[in-house]
Amino acid sequence: AAAVTEFVTTKSDKIFAEAQELMPGGVSSPVRAFKSVGGGPVVFDHVKDAYAYDVDGNKYIDYVGTWGPAICGHANDEVNDALKLALENGTSFGAPCELENVLAQKVIDAVPSVEMVRFCNSGTEACMGALRLMRAYTGRSKIIKFEGCYHGHADPFLVQAGSGVATLGLPDSPGVPDGATSGTLCAPYNDAAAVAKLFAEHKDEIAGVILEPVVGNSGFIIPDKEFLEELRKLTTENGAVLCFDEVMTGFRIAYGGAQQYHGITPDMTTMGKVIGGGLPVGAYGGKKEIMQMVAPAGPMYQAGTLSGNPLAMTAGIKTLDILSREGSYEHLEKITSRLINGILEIAKENGHAVCGGSISGMFGFFFCEGPVKNFQDATASDTDKFARWHRGMLEQGVYLAPSQYEAGFTGLTHTEEDIDATLAAAKIVMSNL
Ligand code: PMP
Repeated sequence: AAAVTEFVTTKSDKIFAEAQELMPGGVSSPVRAFKSVGGGPVVFDHVKDAYAYDVDGNKYIDYVGTWGPAICGHANDEVNDALKLALENGTSFGAPCELENVLAQKVIDAVPSVEMVRFCNSGTEACMGALRLMRAYTGRSKIIKFEGCYHGHADPFLVQAGSGVATLGLPDSPGVPDGATSGTLCAPYNDAAAVAKLFAEHKDEIAGVILEPVVGNSGFIIPDKEFLEELRKLTTENGAVLCFDEVMTGFRIAYGGAQQYHGITPDMTTMGKVIGGGLPVGAYGGKKEIMQMVAPAGPMYQAGTLSGNPLAMTAGIKTLDILSREGSYEHLEKITSRLINGILEIAKENGHAVCGGSISGMFGFFFCEGPVKNFQDATASDTDKFARWHRGMLEQGVYLAPSQYEAGFTGLTHTEEDIDATLAAAKIVMSNL
């Protein structure tokens, strides 16, 4: 395996202890703290290609890829060279910049539903904008989301998975007022009948339906084709907007996103992660008729000091250039399916109940028999076993997402040798769980 000699985390532990005095939980985003798997996080020093290096000198094969953006490999030379040149022209304009046209054109050419696009700075912002636009366009206030789907941390979306009160729209986090979530209706993923029921109960009140078109935020869950077809039909029949949240899947499941992969075109799409190539970018787009509602073309307000930032646009443009080359998605498909099939096989050989899969450069598995079709199914997973698996792999030099309810990501720089090394590590860890 990629394992060095001895797994030491002295420096990481010290830095993280200090961080906990300075920032809540020691992090800038919760999952990074490794709370659900325990053992404490390792502190990164630098990243390159498919690898992350921590402050104690441990090297990891990285399957988090900064949560998706690093699809061309970390610190890609071509992206870095483009950024160095762009830097000379200034870090922020706050004025129109031709690079925005270039990235917008690429997104419009690639993503079937997108005829116009608005750039912002994160996936959260993209989903906030898309939500406001769905409501502005339809003049309706309610939306349907799915248990276990994450659309960023804006108040109306913090109605989460698994909770019996979810369909009542009760807030999941303190600080979210009831009013912010009273328009949020929740249904189980892959359950079109539940959505049809909500449409019937709230006739002419539902502005739109938003979903992850391949789920990554309850672990990796694939939608049934019929489910997506039914959503397309129900939204059209009821005059509601269908929005695919492709923050995670955009330019990853396929160059044209999950909508291209599934062959189902929504009315609106949100994006982030990959389109920023590791810099902060989000975007929402859709039919021209809908997008023309956005200020200053129309009355729906949404803005951003740093939106369309030239450095972020540059990283996005170069990343999409690289991805659009011959063979990119074939490589992702090949190495990722080998990785997940290998892990599943090794797990079964060692007597562990598992189910999982991959599409392109996105994968995941659960420690349960399955099949997992929604968040409720996912909760059957043995999360204690997952925690031991996670720590074991970390000690073997493999960096996996520190939660059973997250997907894994590969990139163009993951090699067959990386997969070999990962599977060798999996053999050791699975036999000791
Ligand atoms: N939507 C989805 C599907 C996501 O996976 C994420 C982030 N993991 C977001 C929205 C929020 O994006 P960000 O973290 O950039 O705000």
